[in-house]
Amino acid sequence: MKFGFDIDDTLINLREHAFHIYNRRLNKNVGLDVYHALNTVEIHEAFGLSAAEGKKMWNSLLHEIYYTSCPPLTNAVETLQELDKQGHEIYYITARPKEHEEGTRKWMTQQGFPMQEGRFFCGMKDEEKIQIIRSLKLDYYFDDKPAVLETLSSEKLKVYVMNQSYNLHMKIPRITSWSELKDIITK
Ligand SMILES: [Mg+2]
Repeated sequence: MKFGFDIDDTLINLREHAFHIYNRRLNKNVGLDVYHALNTVEIHEAFGLSAAEGKKMWNSLLHEIYYTSCPPLTNAVETLQELDKQGHEIYYITARPKEHEEGTRKWMTQQGFPMQEGRFFCGMKDEEKIQIIRSLKLDYYFDDKPAVLETLSSEKLKVYVMNQSYNLHMKIPRITSWSELKDIITK
């Protein structure tokens, strides 16, 4: 079968990693309780930043956010390796900017995520992911972001939301840990 995955906050714990970086850079000590209560994908509010300041901060730290020690979500690497071993096709579909394609592929490979030529897509807007997902004829797709998931509601493939504080309102099948995947696909 064909499996499509978003990367940030679906396979790796990027926002929390960025949250720690913001604390260090701003010399603050905002607690993880604040992080877990955020109902926005963006994290700037927790630091008292405006949307514009937050965007500037995120972009200025992008290299550190993407390419240092962001941990994969629990069991993400092992689960995808297992799918790969079983002969399933694994596709990555991320809205990360195009100029980060090579770096992201390399970083993902270093973390142990299975990576094959022609199965990595990036640089699209959230609402454009649907076109790639449709053309790949995926069986399953996983993402954390409401703006993406909302465009996929009428598609035939099986769509799952990765549980995060800002997507709790979404009434679609939900995965809270990658260890649940093997049960999902044997259903
Ligand atoms: Mg994401």
